[in-house]
Amino acid sequence: MIAVENISKKYSGQTALAPTTLTLASGQTTVLIGPSGCGKSTLLRLLIGLIQPDSGTVTIDGEGLTAQTVEKQRHKVGYVIQEGGLFPHLTAMQNIALLARFLGRSESSVQQRIEELSRLVQLPADALSRYPSGLSGGQRQRVGLMRALMLDPPLLLLDEPLGALDPITRSELQSELKEIFARLEKTVVLVTHDMGEAAYFGDTIALMRGGAIIQTGTLEDLLQRPAEKYVTDFIRAQRSPLPPMPEAQGL
Ligand code: ADP
Repeated sequence: MIAVENISKKYSGQTALAPTTLTLASGQTTVLIGPSGCGKSTLLRLLIGLIQPDSGTVTIDGEGLTAQTVEKQRHKVGYVIQEGGLFPHLTAMQNIALLARFLGRSESSVQQRIEELSRLVQLPADALSRYPSGLSGGQRQRVGLMRALMLDPPLLLLDEPLGALDPITRSELQSELKEIFARLEKTVVLVTHDMGEAAYFGDTIALMRGGAIIQTGTLEDLLQRPAEKYVTDFIRAQRSPLPPMPEAQGL
């Protein structure tokens, strides 16, 4: 569904993304993972046309992403960033409805969709009238997800969506998100630097370093058939630093 061919990006002569080719299968979740600064967000931004590549092409549903098509193509894409990326001066409801209202959708269809999405992401009704500063981190993220899903795009791009959350909220939202992706049959690209999260979500994992994808495959591929030592080192370095839980006393 999405084909990326030889796409590259430099900033001030420095490579952010070396020529990269990748196919994103429909209805599947692809995780981009790697250390900070390795080009994950750059690749994601190129996929939605937020930045222009120096070379290469992105094709969504057989149609190239160009200056002429980008506005239309963006409606096929929901984009979620850390903390939801909400406008602070708009309520949750106004944030969610913004694009649909801008596109002239009827108020009744907007309201109906927001009700559907509130149920889907389990957002309490009273949260809709609050400004982002009056929402918890998890609620902001749910609102960000509702906004991304408002036009029911086939493609969802998520840039470290759970990075700013406490571990319990993060774990709750991880399982809810996974269920939502599967239920809605979305094509998903998720950026994380957390291997556990990549393993949990990724049908395919693309491990990056220094502006390049080092290996693309399933977790099993990365574990059993690492393309190079870096793959194994990266996975090892992410193992939990916690010692095993002590046995419960007296039970
Ligand atoms: P990641 O998402 O993996 O942390 P990024 O894609 O954000 O990495 O960044 C890749 C490289 O490109 C980094 O070296 C970063 O400093 C650089 N970079 C990203 N965006 C810009 C920008 N707008 N201007 C200059 N350099 C940038």
